[in-house]
Amino acid sequence: MPEYPKTIIEFREWFATEQECRDYLVKLRWPQGFVCPCCKHAASWKMKRGLFWCRNCACQASATAGTLFHDTRKPLRLWFEAMWYVTNQKHGVSALGLQRVLGLGSYHTAWNWLHKLRRAMVRPGRDRLSGVVEVDEIFIGGKRPGKRGRGSAGKTLVVVAVQKAQKAIGRIRLCRVADASGNSLEPAVWKMVEPGSAVHTDAWRGYNGLTELGYSHEIVRKNPDLGDNLLPSVNLVVSLLKRWLLGTHQGAVEPSHLEYYLDEYTFRFNRRHSKSRGLLFYRLITQAMDLGPVPETALKATSIGSLNVQNSQD
Ligand SMILES: [Zn+2]
Repeated sequence: MPEYPKTIIEFREWFATEQECRDYLVKLRWPQGFVCPCCKHAASWKMKRGLFWCRNCACQASATAGTLFHDTRKPLRLWFEAMWYVTNQKHGVSALGLQRVLGLGSYHTAWNWLHKLRRAMVRPGRDRLSGVVEVDEIFIGGKRPGKRGRGSAGKTLVVVAVQKAQKAIGRIRLCRVADASGNSLEPAVWKMVEPGSAVHTDAWRGYNGLTELGYSHEIVRKNPDLGDNLLPSVNLVVSLLKRWLLGTHQGAVEPSHLEYYLDEYTFRFNRRHSKSRGLLFYRLITQAMDLGPVPETALKATSIGSLNVQNSQD
């Protein structure tokens, strides 16, 4: 059973010092005790500042090397505070909000940290949706409804998959695609939905190949138009997503960063009923340990301008 703080009081007690944060990361990295990353020997000397020195090959290792916290110059306590804050705000946080809460001198640092943590919100090899899954696409950004099959300036096409759980909405997956052709939609569905599942779509031809891929494909809406005629569960998820992009992020999302925001939204949505925020913190920190270093250059937006998220259905 994983150990994590359940409340903010526990959190503050567990991680009051830099050493306690470091020890926790050591425990996450080497649950059975230190193992040398170079030669796999277990015997080591403990050095200053969390360094281990392998007695066999003299290799030096730290718990943070090769993780999201690789070479960070800021105190781990600050990172822990950031992760606790990010997972305890139900609707997420903006860079400005994080900067204020942590008292960071620079907005840039807060922005970078949030982007790094977003990358840790996706569990590598996460399982796919199954059972009955509704699939539809939306355009995000731009002012006017887009047309399927054609490029649409300033808009990003996102495939939304929603697992139905009796009368409620289960888990979701979101995937950015280049266009609405079968060549783009089929791999997206494959990535998000377990073969053998029942996939409900509208009559858009881009979904024609799903049966061949092993899905039980059911067309539940004859109209293949995009935009104002979404399938019901997708429609609900999309309206919440747009409200979130507008609210927490005030619509200021770089198109080239959109998929990381989609990852954050998925992380939050799929855990929205989770009673234990401590468990969310634990998930985030373990995934940050599994994720490699994220260099700052990888965070830079490759395109200029923000997505203009409309509140209406577009
Ligand atoms: Zn060694």
